[in-house]
Amino acid sequence: MGKTRQFGDMPTDDFRRYGYEIVDRLADYFERIEEFPVLAKVEPDAVKNALPSTAPEFGEPFDEVLSDVDSIILPAVTHWNHPNFHGLFSTSTSSVGVFAEMFAAAFDMKAMLWRTAPASTELEDVVLDWLRQMTGLPETFEGIIYDTASVSTMHAIAAARERADPNSRSLGLGRTDSPQMRVYVSEHVHSSIDKSVITLGLGLESLRKIETNERFEMVPEKLKEAIDADLAAGFLPICVIPTIGTTSTTSIDPVAAVADICEAYGIWMHVDAAYSGSAAILPELRPLFTGWERADSIVMNPHKWFFTPFDLSVLYCRDLDDLKKAFSLVPEYLKTDDAARVKNGMDYGIQLGRRFRSLKLWFVMRYFGREGLIARIREHCRLARLFASWVEESENFELMAPVPFALVCFRARPAGAADLDILNEQLMNAINSSGEAYLSHTKLNGQFTLRLSVGSIRVEERHLKKVWDLLDLS
Ligand SMILES: *Cc1c(COP(=O)(O)O)cnc(C)c1O
Repeated sequence: MGKTRQFGDMPTDDFRRYGYEIVDRLADYFERIEEFPVLAKVEPDAVKNALPSTAPEFGEPFDEVLSDVDSIILPAVTHWNHPNFHGLFSTSTSSVGVFAEMFAAAFDMKAMLWRTAPASTELEDVVLDWLRQMTGLPETFEGIIYDTASVSTMHAIAAARERADPNSRSLGLGRTDSPQMRVYVSEHVHSSIDKSVITLGLGLESLRKIETNERFEMVPEKLKEAIDADLAAGFLPICVIPTIGTTSTTSIDPVAAVADICEAYGIWMHVDAAYSGSAAILPELRPLFTGWERADSIVMNPHKWFFTPFDLSVLYCRDLDDLKKAFSLVPEYLKTDDAARVKNGMDYGIQLGRRFRSLKLWFVMRYFGREGLIARIREHCRLARLFASWVEESENFELMAPVPFALVCFRARPAGAADLDILNEQLMNAINSSGEAYLSHTKLNGQFTLRLSVGSIRVEERHLKKVWDLLDLS
């Protein structure tokens, strides 16, 4: 037992025994999750210093590997599944999502061609159509799964670039016959879009950040002015990216007004709903998404607020052929005689082999059902509004932004405090280093603002009460 063979894999008897043991350990982990500090209490290099500098020469008993998971890895885990993880965006996995990852790793399929992964290729189409229906998007939208929103959005901008200048694919950018391109976003855009324009060779200067109003929403008149000015100066506007649920405050850009402008000028509209997209399954929140059905492409992240383990991001396109035009390239060794009849995942992006990600979304949708998913997301929104009501009723705190989804932006403002920025930063650091909860921050109008995100599958009202007690200034 536990001894490696000269050839071949671990004996199946050992695999079975360790498999049961690992599931037991994971069940204990989920049961005991609240006993761990949310943010790992380790100093930099703790893990490196605990490990040898070279790989083992001979195989080691697997028991020893598992014991090192307990003693070296676990203390350095930041527990995203902890119900008091409220920083950044609170994301978490469901147990069935973990099961799906086990199957996907065991099958180890690479979905490049339909033939190399029929189940993965077809299940992806099925679950993305289910999700499309649940979120109320028109039938014209077809999706593709990537790892993260950063990558989904990078592909969307590449498709927009292809449409605006079909020669860019073969001849590249910076030619005398190709004007410099422009992409439009709001001041509150996610940094992944800055990185996309770097990656695509458009340059950071190509990204124009449009002014927002007092609710942190893009001002459409300013967008139109910027496009007109750029056209007059000889630039080529290729894409506008309104966000539904910005990262700082979950503000909502006026998508319908942006769609009017994009239609008038023939510019690609990509909607960043990476965080909020899941909430479109709630009928009462659907109005917040008005206009997104007119987009050329939309990104949403089931790994954010749909109980699906990282990573799984979905890019919906009005016409998936736009992506194919930008990326399809089939070398001789990947040519198949069924290409006209099947969808080959490799045609829609820079990746050749693609993980079997749809399985986890399928497990989640089947286990919880639409009704179960709605109930959980609706409860998160209720809890966020409840927390916001405590903030509003307190003399010592104030809300810093509206709460359309499940993120509360607020700060302490006790009478007589000298420097509110320093006070709030200290408050956040004290809570975070206690290990009891994790909050993050942003700056709104130059003011240090605390962010509390509610999104864990394990979160209950008592967890928010706990944060509120931790914030007690008395
Ligand atoms: C989280 C987020 C992203 C980035 O998502 P990744 O999947 O981590 O790349 C982009 N845009 C918005 C609005 C987000 O909330």
